[in-house]
Amino acid sequence: MHSRSVLLSWGCLTACCLALGCDKPAPVPAPQTAQSKPAPPAPVRIELPTDNRALYESGGEPRFFTPTGPDFPWTSGAFGCVRNSGTRFHEGVDIRCLVRDRQGEPVDAVRAAAPGRIAFINRSASASDYGQYLVLLHEVDGLTVYTLYAHLREIASELRPDAPVQAGQTLGTLGRTAKSPIPAERAHLHFEVGLLGSPHFDLLLHRWYQDPGPNPFGNWNGQNLLGFDPAALLIAQQQAGPAFNMRAYLAQQPSLCTVRIHKSSLPVVTRYPAMVQGAPGTSAFEVDLNPQGVPLRIRALPSSSGQFKRGAYELVTVDEALEARHRCNKLVFKKGRQWVLTERGQRAVDLLAFAPGS
Ligand SMILES: [Zn+2]
Repeated sequence: MHSRSVLLSWGCLTACCLALGCDKPAPVPAPQTAQSKPAPPAPVRIELPTDNRALYESGGEPRFFTPTGPDFPWTSGAFGCVRNSGTRFHEGVDIRCLVRDRQGEPVDAVRAAAPGRIAFINRSASASDYGQYLVLLHEVDGLTVYTLYAHLREIASELRPDAPVQAGQTLGTLGRTAKSPIPAERAHLHFEVGLLGSPHFDLLLHRWYQDPGPNPFGNWNGQNLLGFDPAALLIAQQQAGPAFNMRAYLAQQPSLCTVRIHKSSLPVVTRYPAMVQGAPGTSAFEVDLNPQGVPLRIRALPSSSGQFKRGAYELVTVDEALEARHRCNKLVFKKGRQWVLTERGQRAVDLLAFAPGS
């Protein structure tokens, strides 16, 4: 129909020109060639946020990661159960500074790791363990991904929430701000990459704690940001080249456990529909979680077992070997011969499943 109506109007135009002595040649539509089609946008990739690129060099880790002290190995600045003899989790990487001023303070520029928009800025150095920090959101292969830049010495004054940012745009200066200031020699950028947690985080805080205290960070509180290993991601992305796909990367990660959630809708399904296999609108979902509680795969189930009441979380499987390697995260616990979700595990699922009134 469309092509026919175009033909009719061209016919009319030609006839009108003949009748009125139109001296302009009839316009000819440009032929649709492969060259005239707009090029598809380049896929969004996460890049290193400072000039320190030692992560990509063989044996460069000690020049990339900032350890927790002079007597600690570089691994204490990496992601995972690397703190307090492996009992405490570090949800990002601590990137070494390269350049200092005469007073010994860092001057490295911190740049946006990808194009996106500003989600949150905290300019109060003493309000958070992150010090002055900033959160960006990026659309990567169908997923909304956050990056977080913490302990900044300063944040560029012109930056405002919701403003767009270009890849590589200067966000501020690497620093050592925190609730308890970081020693000058340990100045570093704490950098995170991950998925978003609950859209109702303040309500969850009141559900978890009798008196949670003020939360000036809203949904951009670190407890509501589901980080995965930025160094592993950056290396995998570089090795895969143009074939890299963030969704496939996450889907290929090993899962600590599978949790069946007996609900017909979940905020995480609304937020990340591209992760869901099967048709939503059913009565339960299975979510594969990594050891830090990041959802990797979500399956909509055709029907829910009547054994569980609506809203229940059912722990279906646990990878015991993986659990042993990530014990500090403590999402699951073996009670007798049966694995159960710990309180921390329940909270990790709450971040994906809780909705007010449900
Ligand atoms: Zn850190």
